[in-house]
Amino acid sequence: MKKVILIRYSEIHLKGNNKRFFEKLLLTNIKEALKDITCNISFSHTRYLVTDFEEEKLNEILSLLLTVFGIHSLSVADEIETSVENIENYFKNFKLSNTTFRVSVNRADKSFPINSTEFSKQIGSIIFENNENLTVDLHNYKNEISIDIRETGKTYIFTKNIKALNGMPVGSAGKGLLLLSGGLDSPVAGYKIAQRGMIVDGLHFHSFPYTSENAKNKVIKLAKLIKPYTHLKKLFVVSFTKIQEEIHKNCDGDFMITLMRRIMMRIAERLCEKYEYKTIITGECLGQVASQTIESLTSTNLVLEKIPVLRPLIAFDKDETIEIAHKINTYETSILPFEDCCTVFLPKNPVIKPKIDKVLLEESKLNIEELINDAIKNLEVVEV
Ligand code: ATP
Ligand code: MG
Repeated sequence: MKKVILIRYSEIHLKGNNKRFFEKLLLTNIKEALKDITCNISFSHTRYLVTDFEEEKLNEILSLLLTVFGIHSLSVADEIETSVENIENYFKNFKLSNTTFRVSVNRADKSFPINSTEFSKQIGSIIFENNENLTVDLHNYKNEISIDIRETGKTYIFTKNIKALNGMPVGSAGKGLLLLSGGLDSPVAGYKIAQRGMIVDGLHFHSFPYTSENAKNKVIKLAKLIKPYTHLKKLFVVSFTKIQEEIHKNCDGDFMITLMRRIMMRIAERLCEKYEYKTIITGECLGQVASQTIESLTSTNLVLEKIPVLRPLIAFDKDETIEIAHKINTYETSILPFEDCCTVFLPKNPVIKPKIDKVLLEESKLNIEELINDAIKNLEVVEV
């Protein structure tokens, strides 16, 4: 008898002709997640199987699999050679007491001689005879004992389904560039878009010396924390200092944030074109702050000519974001109190509903093209 892990996929079963592509990609991603673990990973008939691992590695393997999008659920199972006798013998030593239970048989191997309803009853009575205080209840049961008789000549027996992340395999929806600040929202936004299959790299703007080296390191740490989920490899770090100083010197201070965000988007779009990202992703959320009213979002959208912006958190409540930040372990890092470049030169009364004519007038006081080119020329690429 061997301990194995059964992996079931989520939405992939809805795919038609291109199902194989998704199945193969998920296999690649599972192998990547477990690359440092000695084990065997195989795929057959909609299930993946992890075998031949050291039992003390079991929990580590499960945690790694719980970072892989596209997995619906996992079960730790005992694998035995299929035969009526083997399965019956297994259940003669099966321990269960003081509970309600039911047995579910899945007979994928149609050459197995007993049908699933009959065999469930047969195994149910063996469990019943060998244990105390048990009640069979097909509907309100506390324990479900699953027997999966596969086409491969193996049978898998398990009692638990561990819920995994669902979503689509990362890499199935192209590559995007995440505007990653040090806050709570943007790491979660990266996680959410990766859940739909997108690979994410990061772009961070800093305002050294107004913001510290600690602030930058915090963002690198956040990038590392979301890497298992998003497959993030690169973090582009761009200095925003000169741009902010120029806005501060030349423009109406109340428009600081609007102007900054429009320049951030332009830089992001240039990088998307250069490095072949299909979209920009932000952690913006409707109504959260002045820069996230529909008018402000529209004014930033207007600078983009070729690349769309995705805002996965647009309708999230803060509580929902915080819940995910805890789950993916970014919360504690995000709340570290280092300055973000958006908080430097922050106006007392930022415009909430910027009028585009006025925005264009303020922008006409800047040499935007030169500022953008300089910023891009001096960018740093951190391999995460
Ligand atoms: P977050 O918690 O992600 O920092 P926020 O609620 O503080 O978001 P803003 O500061 O207005 O909101 O930022 C909105 C979005 O703009 C962020 O989610 C992020 O995608 C992007 N952003 C803000 N500051 C930066 C920065 N310094 N570098 C890169 N992107 C940024
Ligand atoms: Mg922020």
